Amino acid sequence: MYNIAIIGGGAAGSAVFGELLQATAVGTVHWVTGGQATGRGIAYATDNEQHLLNVRASGMGLFAEHEEQFLQHAMRHRAGVSGADFLPRGLFGDFIEAQIQGRMEEARIRGRHFQVHEPSAERIQALPDGSLVVQLASGHRIQAHSVVLALGALSPRPLRAVTQRALASGRYVVDPWRPPELENAPRRYVVIGTGLTAVDTLLSAASRWPHAELVAVSRHGQLPFRHPVEPLAPCPHQARLNARLLACHGPLAMLRQFRRAMHEAPTSDWRSLLDGMRPINARLWQSMTLEQRRQFLHRLRWLWEAGRHRMAPGSADAIQRLIDNKRLQVHAARVLKVDGEDNLQVHVRHRATQVHSTLPADVVVQATGLDTTVGYTRHPLLSQLIEDGLVRADPLQLGLAALPNGALINAQGRAMGRLYAIGSLLRGSQWECTAMPEIRVAAKALAGALQSGQSQDTVNPPHLAGDASPA
Ligand SMILES: Cc1cc2nc3c(=O)[nH]c(=O)nc-3n(C[C@H](O)[C@H](O)[C@H](O)COP(=O)(O)OP(=O)(O)OC[C@H]3O[C@@H](n4cnc5c(N)ncnc54)[C@H](O)[C@@H]3O)c2cc1C
Repeated sequence: MYNIAIIGGGAAGSAVFGELLQATAVGTVHWVTGGQATGRGIAYATDNEQHLLNVRASGMGLFAEHEEQFLQHAMRHRAGVSGADFLPRGLFGDFIEAQIQGRMEEARIRGRHFQVHEPSAERIQALPDGSLVVQLASGHRIQAHSVVLALGALSPRPLRAVTQRALASGRYVVDPWRPPELENAPRRYVVIGTGLTAVDTLLSAASRWPHAELVAVSRHGQLPFRHPVEPLAPCPHQARLNARLLACHGPLAMLRQFRRAMHEAPTSDWRSLLDGMRPINARLWQSMTLEQRRQFLHRLRWLWEAGRHRMAPGSADAIQRLIDNKRLQVHAARVLKVDGEDNLQVHVRHRATQVHSTLPADVVVQATGLDTTVGYTRHPLLSQLIEDGLVRADPLQLGLAALPNGALINAQGRAMGRLYAIGSLLRGSQWECTAMPEIRVAAKALAGALQSGQSQDTVNPPHLAGDASPA
């Protein structure tokens, strides 16, 4: 029988594991969780009720064929919940745990073979017959025909602008999810980044230190846009826009088409148009050459991120109150240097004026978003896989090089159809692949491919124009 190992105990690993527990045509399913609480990862481990989901309750199912289950779970556990609500993320973590427990119980009753391993995976070796051996930190070895990497984003690395002195001071926080234990409340708390992680970091700091002055700085100073309170109706011209976008060459042409659609449908909300692109986002990304992707990252990424990954209305209101009460300042500026010892100084160049200034800070938190630069990672398993040539980095350092179906490409430029990824490691091949709506669809497709044995085909991937990496 065909054994499969899934590495990573976050939401993506849970979704693939849950799907495979229901599959009939596979042998033993091994789930290597790394000892973390099931399904939570960073996103859903929080118990702060201010940390809200940025997807409505009706859209947060774990399994593609049961999108409604999170809403049902939330209604059972909280009064007055509706599908339009943005609920606390911890509640979604509880839901994942309950779903996985339920699927494991059903699988036991049906006699399906599976094993959950808590130690993390340290190495993967390919055997001459093509199968893979996963070695765990405990020394235990798992032999599998296919392995799925569901490792989430990498641990953040300090920005190049941060001096060793600032790092050694203990006042520069590289991982926003591990805030420092401070003896005294900070007077000035600076966050580098203005995305959703920065928003959570600011909201946590605001409630923990009610007198701290908060500053957020990023190149464009663009906070995420807000979700409307009620869901938006689909735009009647969406199909026409999507067809035009698919016929475009490159991101700037796509932006022009988007603006044209807004002009043609002035009563439609741009957020509805952007949401209506969700089913074609991966195809749009895959249609771009390497140079066009680079252009997108350089010129449009900030706008895309702020529009696509929006704030729940409750978070947006709380941030706006902080700004109105003059507790939070947001700067559009480039961080040139972070230095200091007892107090830190953040040297910046303001975008609009090009003027240099220094922001003093008791604490600086780096919240610059997902790190997918696998080429520089110290993640033991990923480093080993790259070193041994079983995988290679995406040419733009957006995770690992992969086919659109998640099959990883090795150093020779071939997808052996044994090693797969899901989630943020696939940013280079899918772009939007980190939120639940994309993850559950990918998990379903992957489980289907693994079941049908389709995964064993060796494929030569089509090369991106301009990809200079070895083929
Ligand atoms: C703060 C935050 C808020 C978010 N909010 C939302 C939201 O509201 N809605 C939404 O749809 N999406 C949201 N997201 C997106 C989020 O990325 C996904 O929904 C989901 O959590 C990703 O799960 P994952 O399994 O890919 O990664 P993770 O949750 O990071 O899980 C990866 C797991 O793999 C484990 N691991 C790593 N290496 C090994 C190893 N060698 N061996 C074993 N285990 C290993 C890690 O310890 C970790 O537990 C949010 C993300 C963040 C960071």
